[in-house]
Amino acid sequence: MHSELIYLDHHATTPCDPAVIDAMLPYLAGAFGNPSSTTHALGRAAAAAVAEARAEVARAIGAGSREIVFTSGTTEALNLALFGVMAAYPERGRHLVTTTIEHPAVLDTCVALERRGVEVTRVGVGADGVVDPAEVAAAIREDTVCVAVMAANNEIGTVQPLGEIGAVCRARGARLVVDAAQAVGKIPFEVDGCGADLVAFSAHKLYGPKGVGALYVRRRPKTLLEAQIHGGGHERGLRSGTLNVPAIVGFAVACRLARERLADDAARVGALRDRLLAGLRAAVDGVVVNGSLERRLPHNLNVSFAGVEGRRLIEALDGVAVSAGSACASSDLEASHVLRAIGVGDDRVHASLRFGLGRSNTAAQIELVVAKVADAVRRLGR
Ligand SMILES: *Cc1c(COP(=O)(O)O)cnc(C)c1O
Repeated sequence: MHSELIYLDHHATTPCDPAVIDAMLPYLAGAFGNPSSTTHALGRAAAAAVAEARAEVARAIGAGSREIVFTSGTTEALNLALFGVMAAYPERGRHLVTTTIEHPAVLDTCVALERRGVEVTRVGVGADGVVDPAEVAAAIREDTVCVAVMAANNEIGTVQPLGEIGAVCRARGARLVVDAAQAVGKIPFEVDGCGADLVAFSAHKLYGPKGVGALYVRRRPKTLLEAQIHGGGHERGLRSGTLNVPAIVGFAVACRLARERLADDAARVGALRDRLLAGLRAAVDGVVVNGSLERRLPHNLNVSFAGVEGRRLIEALDGVAVSAGSACASSDLEASHVLRAIGVGDDRVHASLRFGLGRSNTAAQIELVVAKVADAVRRLGR
């Protein structure tokens, strides 16, 4: 059906690795037990599978099993983290610090918190798309409960200096909440290395299934959290609801593969990304890279083509799956808040493409994409 499609939208989602699907199938069939049903073998088998998966998912970020809460994905994990932590420290205050380039899962949750009386300070970024730890430090107050900064941006791929930001948060008594959906499995990410207290990530961004993710909740020093979904007390009372066993098992296999392949994938896909940029620069005039090229995910490229409407360019790129911004933003006519935040002007903000490369891409595909973009830019008349 889509056999001809060149998929360059891996920031939106990734295909399930075949090994992930194989591992999930038994739990959709005969091994259907509820992990809470420990009175019989079927339930106990499911509980054992979840326990094993939990250890593997924890390992992906250098955490312990008891620090992992399974959720439906990063969005839910971030809602639990932000609402949960703001409710758990009333004596500290009602102030939250975040950045202007976060995913809507953080930005919109902050707006919802503001409606409930939380005060939010949004730290901006420079043209490089990198948050300055000194600005985060300046924004933290006596009553700041938490600071939310993403590990890597989903539009321009910029990697944030979390180590420094984490140290600032620790020194000032604020908890660090990290949206790591684009980082886990793509670049080295360890909870202790960055000093994060709460970390959210999704399986489907790292070749696992959709609809499952995790929230890491630090135990030492202990991070308090108030549950947002109430019921049977699953996940140590932090997220009630019967666990999605097949998805959790698939998530764990995806985490293991990502851990084993991280260095190789990053080197190979990073080289393809560099080839794509070099090819575009050679074939098209006025290519501008949005955000720092150095502090960037190896599989991301976000570029503007002066004078060409991004939307029309995407339409003209038959057989290539790319996006104008994030998956969430490209459906409406709103300009990307991330490109706005790094100071991209009106002329270029609608002339941008986000390329998200992945495991299955080949050099031949990249050459073809360069030729198709060059042809499309020419046809769109400059
Ligand atoms: C994809 C993504 C999310 C949302 O993940 P879901 O799995 O859709 O909940 C949040 N933040 C970032 C940076 C993302 O890339």
